[in-house]
This record gives sequence, C-alpha cells and structure tokens, in this order.
Amino acid sequence: MELVCPICNGMAIYLLRCPHCGKQMENRGAMVEFLDDYSPYLDMDMTQLVDGAANDQCVHLFYCENCRYDKRVKIQRVNI
Ligand SMILES: [Zn+2]
Ligand SMILES: [Zn+2]
Repeated sequence: MELVCPICNGMAIYLLRCPHCGKQMENRGAMVEFLDDYSPYLDMDMTQLVDGAANDQCVHLFYCENCRYDKRVKIQRVNI
C-alpha cells in the first residue's frame, strides 16, 4: 500500500470555482513541485512546510486568471 495524492496521480479531478467571479479555477499543481524548484532540501518532506499540512495531505495551488486570485487546497492522500 502506498499513500498517494489522487490528483497528482490522475485518479481524480478537483474542480474549484473562484469565490469572486465564479469561474473555474485552474489547478496549478501541487505545492511540493513549486518548492522543489527553489529549495535545495530535496530530501525533506516539503509538504510539512506548506501551511502546516500533514504528511497524508497534498497541497495544491488553484488559480483564477480572471481575478488573479490563488488558493491553496489540501487534498487528502489515499492508500492504493
Ligand atoms: Zn497532489
Ligand atoms: Zn475569479
């Protein structure tokens, strides 16, 4: 069994509407991937540094191009 994020693994699609304009927000991917670009500490579990997310959660960034509003959403990882 492995703990994985259903969205990162293409098992689920998370749709989020912008609270300001109601348009569908764009999934910009997991925060872990962004952090990897900037941080030299690749061996650490970066999810712990983002918003206090737990190990079993994957933080995704959603973005509304219309309002330039972004929101972080914690996705519960599942066992497969
Ligand atoms: Zn994910
Ligand atoms: Zn919007």
